[in-house]
Amino acid sequence: MLIVKKFGGTSVGNKERIFRVAQRCIADYQKGHEVVVVLSAMGKTTDELIAKAREINPHASKREMDMLLTTGEQTSVALMAMAMGALGVPAISLNAFQVQMNTTSRYGNAHLKNIDTDRIRRELEQHKIVIVTGFQGVDKYDDYTTLGRGGSDTTAVALAAVLHADACEIFTDVDGVYTADPRIVKNARKLKEITYDEMLDLATAGAGVLHNRSVEMAKKYGVKLVVRSSLNESEGTVVKEEVDVEKMLVSGVALDKKAARISVMGLKDEPGIAFRLFQILAKNNINVDIILQSIGRDNTKDISFTVDEEEADEVVALLEENKTRITATEIKCKKEVAKVSIVGAGMMSNPGVAAKMFEALYSSGININMISTSEIRITVLVDIKDGERAMNAIHDAFGLAE
Ligand code: ASP
Ligand code: MG
Repeated sequence: MLIVKKFGGTSVGNKERIFRVAQRCIADYQKGHEVVVVLSAMGKTTDELIAKAREINPHASKREMDMLLTTGEQTSVALMAMAMGALGVPAISLNAFQVQMNTTSRYGNAHLKNIDTDRIRRELEQHKIVIVTGFQGVDKYDDYTTLGRGGSDTTAVALAAVLHADACEIFTDVDGVYTADPRIVKNARKLKEITYDEMLDLATAGAGVLHNRSVEMAKKYGVKLVVRSSLNESEGTVVKEEVDVEKMLVSGVALDKKAARISVMGLKDEPGIAFRLFQILAKNNINVDIILQSIGRDNTKDISFTVDEEEADEVVALLEENKTRITATEIKCKKEVAKVSIVGAGMMSNPGVAAKMFEALYSSGININMISTSEIRITVLVDIKDGERAMNAIHDAFGLAE
């Protein structure tokens, strides 16, 4: 069997943990399996590197940021190979350049294009455990790129796909995928299995457990994922196309505190305005989420939308620059907002899910700022101070507790 095992930053955060991960991989290796390990940077390394960069230059180019951030993963793979060596098992670490993991050139948020499997295969044939840097790639200029925060999951799934792995295990510091973040919702329950679609919506809605692009890729290539704890042997959650149990009305609640709401006021109520506005954002690679347009009155209208909090300042600057072109009179930004989402495949065939969610919020006296829905997801924007309470109220209302 060929197994891809991915370990997150906490799982390799110190010497003891590195050895624990090494032992776990070696156990599979000694059963005769081929083992490919994907690692994140140790502990909070990536955050620390970002903080260091900001001290030197708050406007550092994204290319240089990637050059810096890729060192985090390179450190952990080398140390892991050394740990396995110390335990008497042949292992080799490889970075994105050595593997040849090619990506687009969008620094900070690059997409994988193709992965050369020759080198990895050769090392596996020589009975080595192969340890690959997560999160990074190389573009056509031979520059390092990164796949976006949390991107090591995507590296692991991509490797599992190209190597036709028999299993892809994502090890993290929680036991699996829960009905809500157990740190916020105390009685959250671990799910045995979840569909790709639900997991994708949950990941996109801010459930930190998997990088959303990794789920997209798993679905596309039919890679069955197992999310499990690196700290114990519990079973974890299987992510796959169809679940065996009955479709849940709601399988999870997610909270994303990193949203910001931008309101563009006094726009002319005529064709082409929304196009101009969102074209500016698209050209600058800004992801827009919930969009709300008011009904026009006195020939003007307002458009509000949410973006990633980190991009909010850039968005405001861009729109201020283009204020006349988009006919805006005022641009407002509010960062103290949070998105609360429910996701469930059963929603498609059951009316009343939205009403039940809104009732839970109303009963807790929580005001809704914006609403958006998809086939299997409902998202509301609330004040950040209400976020955790909203999550708990909704979790209770749908009876998701243990
Ligand atoms: N080290 C990167 C991050 O902190 C990638 C990852 O952990 O998946 O975002
Ligand atoms: Mg992660």
